[in-house]
Amino acid sequence: MLTKISGGHVIDPGYINARMDIWIKDGSIFEVCEEGKGTLESSSPDRIINAAGKIVVPGLIDMHVHLREPGHEYKETIETGLKAAVAGGFTAVCCMPNTKPVNDNAQITSFILEKARQAGLAKVYPVAAISLGLKGDSLAEYAELKTAGAIAVSDDGMPVSSGRLMRNAMEYASCFGLLTIAHCEDHELACNGCMNEGSVSTRLGLRGIPNISESIMVMRDIELSDLTGVPVHIAHVSARESVNAIREGKKRGIKVTAETAPHYFTLTDEAVGNYDTNAKMNPPLRTETDRLAVIKGLEDGTLDIIATDHAPHSVLEKELEFDKAANGICGLETSLGLSMKLVHDGIIGMESLVRLMSTRPAEILGKDNHLKPGNNADIAIIDPDAEWKVDSSKFQGKSKNTPFNGWDLKGRAVMTIVDGRIVFEL
Ligand SMILES: [Zn+2]
Repeated sequence: MLTKISGGHVIDPGYINARMDIWIKDGSIFEVCEEGKGTLESSSPDRIINAAGKIVVPGLIDMHVHLREPGHEYKETIETGLKAAVAGGFTAVCCMPNTKPVNDNAQITSFILEKARQAGLAKVYPVAAISLGLKGDSLAEYAELKTAGAIAVSDDGMPVSSGRLMRNAMEYASCFGLLTIAHCEDHELACNGCMNEGSVSTRLGLRGIPNISESIMVMRDIELSDLTGVPVHIAHVSARESVNAIREGKKRGIKVTAETAPHYFTLTDEAVGNYDTNAKMNPPLRTETDRLAVIKGLEDGTLDIIATDHAPHSVLEKELEFDKAANGICGLETSLGLSMKLVHDGIIGMESLVRLMSTRPAEILGKDNHLKPGNNADIAIIDPDAEWKVDSSKFQGKSKNTPFNGWDLKGRAVMTIVDGRIVFEL
């Protein structure tokens, strides 16, 4: 099978930023070459994809999604989650372990990978639990999890409150080449809050979660990384103090990486409006000062990547009183469109965006997704100027919880290719 992607503007940060052809042979990149100058030019490809006017990039990678299977298939299955992923331009996702049962053993990791294989859409890199049952008491068996195919460990959704356990986890995980991903939250300081602590929470009469409940744990985990010499990846950064701590940590040479999500650089706690549970998430939407600090962090490289924290929920969990509703939003299908706004607004360049959503996540995970000969042909084709309206009823994923329904966005994936196969086409 020979495929030619012709005439697209290829952006592979640090390598290519030009109009090029890409030849794919049997699922792998065969050649990236000047238009019409390929060594296979005289042969006839089985398929020609005309990418003129489009941007062709290494497939996007989302390091933080919740696929809900096993256990909560009514919210999302691995298959529906991956349908949402490829519709968003993602060729790979990391799925968090807070399934039911928890992904803290090899059987669950293998089950997830088998389901992903059957779906045949985006690739899945399972994140296994740090602690058994996400309870924060004792470590899971990382050797068997790694053998089964886990790529990282995290108790996401739950903080590892014990500093001693977190230290042990980081040291133990690194023995098996597993990245440690930290959900940074001090439960005591968060104090069962349900939105950001500030003037809006006061006005609405809701219990607030202060910035420090996040940043104090970010600081702890940076210090643990310094102590152990082991990398730590900070999930879903929302607070300005966290951005500052990560910036300082990086300056000190500590191996800390971090992600934020589109909602943290797009919305503030004002989006909670009239108790809109679609704007309820953890960490919560913060203030304009925090939003601008997150954008600054993306601009200067303090925040390495954009992930979504894709968290599908059914109406059963969302159509409740605000303090009782579940946290999180569906992020996979709106991430690129929301992130492209940073490009259209002139805040970051397109190459930076591709780094944030594709090649940098790959690097952090120890993968190479560059568009170079021999690599798997995992590719997204983006129309940067496509104007579209978010319609959650048309989401490919099972759940519809999003604060962005009805928003006009500019820029979206028009084709997603995994191992040379077209898995999504608009
Ligand atoms: Zn989390």
